[in-house]
Amino acid sequence: MRHIAIIGSGPAGYYTAEGCQKTFGDTARIDILDRLPVPYGLIRSGVAPDHQSIKNVARRYETVALSDTVRFVGNVTVGTDISISELLDRYDAVVLATGAPADKSLGVAGDDLPGVIGSAAFVGWYNGHPDFADLAPPLGGGDAVVIGAGNVALDVARILAKAEDEFAGSDIAAHALGRLRDTHTSTITLLARRGPQQIAMTPKELGELAHLSRALPVVDPADLPPPESDAALEPGLRKSVSHLRAFAERRDDKPIRIAFDFFARPLRIEGDGQVERVIVARTAIDDAGEVRDTGETYAVPASLVVSCIGYRTPPIAGVPYDEKRGRFANVDGRIAPGLYAVGWARRGPTGTIGTNRPDGFAIAELIAADIPPNSGKRGRADLDVLLAERGVAVVTFRDWQKIEAAEIARARSGAPREKFATIDAMLAVLR
Ligand code: NAP
Repeated sequence: MRHIAIIGSGPAGYYTAEGCQKTFGDTARIDILDRLPVPYGLIRSGVAPDHQSIKNVARRYETVALSDTVRFVGNVTVGTDISISELLDRYDAVVLATGAPADKSLGVAGDDLPGVIGSAAFVGWYNGHPDFADLAPPLGGGDAVVIGAGNVALDVARILAKAEDEFAGSDIAAHALGRLRDTHTSTITLLARRGPQQIAMTPKELGELAHLSRALPVVDPADLPPPESDAALEPGLRKSVSHLRAFAERRDDKPIRIAFDFFARPLRIEGDGQVERVIVARTAIDDAGEVRDTGETYAVPASLVVSCIGYRTPPIAGVPYDEKRGRFANVDGRIAPGLYAVGWARRGPTGTIGTNRPDGFAIAELIAADIPPNSGKRGRADLDVLLAERGVAVVTFRDWQKIEAAEIARARSGAPREKFATIDAMLAVLR
């Protein structure tokens, strides 16, 4: 027998559990711990609420969760309720699948002004994550700036731009839908510090902007490189750039503009007690492919700034950390004897949800190679004793299913669920 604890119940956590099941069959017991009483991490709180087909992957994780060898142990915070060394004393392997839920800092003057929000917070807010239920982003003004040229920037711009009826069938949090319904955004400027051929936006997600009922994606044709240069691009990026070329030709009129501002690096953010504008440096790409400021600067008005420039993994006491990369220090997933990292906590916030599957399976193979069976550790039996001694109210997968049923029951018409946006409300279902 091997006892394995996985910290984090998002995609990396569940794919690791699936990999361990396949590798060890009935000769391993796998506990998936999460600090929230609800599972699925990024699937629940990161994937956009209007992308339900992506969220459906949770059904696959449910199959893993319901097998006899896997347990969900929710409402347990590693580092507070139990330390890493206490887990290592009890389990043969501890796998950190904690993702990258913290915003990378913009690091420019004024980035702490009210109204400047990181994407982790903004996305968490509209997805009903309990950490951000009280965010109250300033949505009353006319102009929003979204910083970054990745898929998260696209998610944020799209959510800001959609009309209420375009959220039908989504599980956007009621508190966010109510606020977004009353917004009067006229321009959403997407600031990309490099050019159209250097975006990190994928074609399907970019193409969605073409079909918004009240928002028009706008690209300045002057920013586009000669069309023949697209031939050298990898096919996905070529398709994304073709969307930008189509946007540059549109002439229709809609109340909201989603303006792509390429070669635009945020220099500082200004405002009197609240964000009012972003001062931007015009950039160019030099012959070596490096981005350089041209010396030109200008101001983009903004009553809301959402910075979508990537994420970091929060450190955990006692775990070696790579400060520069914002993730656990590891070699191919190995951190220390018995301690592993997987998914974004291992490699940083890149790739699709599916990228985490081979990651998780690879960790199972490392555990098989590193850890002999029958060490004498007792895994979940000892965990349960310790958590009970500490009065931790553990939430099981069956408990989660009750919370889920209550969320489904309270959904607005046509929506798959209405998430509880506080931990108290989640736990109240179980009382
Ligand atoms: P990302 O794809 O890495 O994009 C980050 C963007 O921020 C890049 O355009 C980057 O520009 C820019 N950036 C970084 N630091 C900056 C700075 N200091 N100032 C200005 N711009 C800066 O990250 P993401 O959008 O957070 O997405 C994370 C991962 O999740 C990605 O793999 C993404 O594809 C995935 N995701 C997928 C979906 C989907 O499939 N529907 C949805 C959301 C997220 P440079 O390129 O110049 O560094």
